[in-house]
Amino acid sequence: MTRVYNFSAGPACLPEWVLNKASQEMLDAHSSGMSVMEMSHRSSEFENILNTAKDRLRRLMDIPEDYEILFLQGGASLQFSMVPMNLLKHSADIINTGQWTKKAIAEHKKLGDTHVVASSAEDNFTYIPKIKQEDLSPDSDYVYICENNTIYGTKYKTLPPHDGKLLVADMSSCILSEPVDVSQYDLIFAGAQKNIGPAGVTLVIIRKDLLTENEALPSMLNYKTYADNNSMYNTPPTYGIYVCGLVFEWLEEQIGGLEAMEKINHQKAALLYDYIDQSTLYSNPVAKEDRSYMNVPFVTGDKDLDAKFVKEAKEAGFVNIKGHRSVGGMRASIYNAMPVEGVEALVDFMKKFESENT
Ligand code: PMP
Repeated sequence: MTRVYNFSAGPACLPEWVLNKASQEMLDAHSSGMSVMEMSHRSSEFENILNTAKDRLRRLMDIPEDYEILFLQGGASLQFSMVPMNLLKHSADIINTGQWTKKAIAEHKKLGDTHVVASSAEDNFTYIPKIKQEDLSPDSDYVYICENNTIYGTKYKTLPPHDGKLLVADMSSCILSEPVDVSQYDLIFAGAQKNIGPAGVTLVIIRKDLLTENEALPSMLNYKTYADNNSMYNTPPTYGIYVCGLVFEWLEEQIGGLEAMEKINHQKAALLYDYIDQSTLYSNPVAKEDRSYMNVPFVTGDKDLDAKFVKEAKEAGFVNIKGHRSVGGMRASIYNAMPVEGVEALVDFMKKFESENT
C-alpha cells in the first residue's frame, strides 16, 4: 500500500490513526456485531457514539454550557441560508473576503436586507479588510465573516468589532486548528470535510438563547428542531458523525488538544512560507499578517511552469496541489491531519523543482 501526501482543500486527508481505528471497527463496532453504518440511530450504541463525540468536542473547544452543538447536513453552503432564516430580523452585515462570503451574500439577499460592509474583491481577496464599529449598519442583527478563506489563503487573526451585534463565523477551513474563545461568537458553523471528518456532516455551535420557535420555518431549517432532538429529529449522517468522533478522540488523546495542534500547524505553515519567501521562483500573494495556517497558495508567475509543477508533484506523490481556478497556480492545504513530514517532503520537492527550473 502506498499512501500519497494529499494536499486537497476538502474533502481532505484524515489522520491515519482515525482511518485505522475505523477499519478495525468496520465489521464489529463496540462489540455490537455490526458496523456503525448498520446501526439504528435510535440504538443506545449510536446514541453513545454521538454523545461521546459532543462531549469530546465541548472539552476540546472549551464550549460553554450555554452553547448547543448540532450535527446537520446540507454542507456549509446550507448555512448561507439557515443563518439568515434563523437570525436575520432587520439586516445582516457581511464582510466579503471571497467565494464563500459571495455565496453567503447571494443567499442572504434572497431573504432580507444585506449590507456588504467591506470587501477585498478589488485586490482578488489577498487581504482581510479591517473594519471599524462605525462601518456597521445601525440596525444589523449580526456581523458575518468567513474566518479562513480556503481559496485565497487568508485568515482573520483578530475578530472584527461587533458591539451590540451577534457574530457569525464560517469556520469550515480553520475549525479545530487552534484554540478559540467560543464566547466571542454567537454562531459558528463548519463543513466537516477539512478538519472534522468526512463530507456529509455540518457542525453548528450556537448560543442556546438563539434557538427560538418559528412556526413559519420548515422544521428541518430551524436550529431548534436539531437542538430539541439531540441532532436526531431525522436520521443523522451516522457514520460521518462516528468518524468525526474518532477525529476528536485523535485530537484529544494523540495530539493533546488544540494548543498542541496549533503549535504543529504553525510549524508546518512556517516551513512553507519561510521557504516561499526566500525563493526566487515561488511567491505567495497574501498580505503577510493575514496569511492562513491551513491553505497556502503559491505561484511561479508562469502558467506553463505551474502546470509542470502540478504534474511532476503528482508523479512524486504530492496530490491535489493545483490552485483554485480563481487564483491559479498551486495551493497546499495543510489541515490538522497533514503530518509535518508531508510538508517537509513538499518543501524538498519544491527546492528540487526550483533548482531544475531556474
Ligand atoms: N465555506 C468555506 C470556508 C469553504 O471552504 C467551503 C468549501 N468547502 C464552503 C463554505 C462550502 O462547503 P460545502 O461544500 O460543505 O457546502
